Amino acid sequence: MKKKFLNKNYTCVAVSKTKPEKSIKELYDFGYRHFGENKVQELVIKNKNLPKDIHWHMIGHLQTNKVKMVVPFVYLIHSVDSLKVLSKINKESEKIGKKTNCLLQMNISNEESKYGFSINEIKEIIINNELNNFNSIVIKGLMGMASFSDDKLLIKNEFKNLKNLYELIKSNFESNNNNIDFNTLSMGMSSDYAIALNEGSNMVRIGSLLFGKRNY
Ligand SMILES: *Cc1c(COP(=O)(O)O)cnc(C)c1O
Repeated sequence: MKKKFLNKNYTCVAVSKTKPEKSIKELYDFGYRHFGENKVQELVIKNKNLPKDIHWHMIGHLQTNKVKMVVPFVYLIHSVDSLKVLSKINKESEKIGKKTNCLLQMNISNEESKYGFSINEIKEIIINNELNNFNSIVIKGLMGMASFSDDKLLIKNEFKNLKNLYELIKSNFESNNNNIDFNTLSMGMSSDYAIALNEGSNMVRIGSLLFGKRNY
């Protein structure tokens, strides 16, 4: 089971939130190099204590006042859910001469509680060239979470919509935006990764299947 998500067809981000460093080290020894966290403090401490060749992914909602703590070392921020936070990431990246890789988090489930842009919002932002001024970020793709549901068809359709948007942006807007460089579609978690991969995901975020259940 632990080796299941190590393969060449897609990247698995092992979601280690709330899990101790020794569990991360165990998966590291299996060959995992991509790990994801959703809290800045936890991410910062784990980055400090664990091997330097780990690629750290920020997958949780990011407050602007914490951006500067993660920008220096983060590999990819999946959870860009507003222009405000994107602007802050850009500013902090510029300060240290780094280009930070980001995904735009899309709200594909229409569940009230989920963060992210709507599809119409993002189309408007891109058509109006609102991303062009951010010279210290690179938008590598999109991230989305499907509804928390047993309805496989619903989940499948939500992923399909995200994949369509991904392809639309890639084919229409990449060439005239120098900070759009799509290669990553982050969709799929423990409960729905198989559906996501079928719908064209190339990055899954797997927590409980690799680390066991979380206690919250
Ligand atoms: C916790 C989390 C995951 C992993 O969830 P599992 O169901 O344990 O695989 C994936 N993505 C995000 C954004 C998360 O917060």
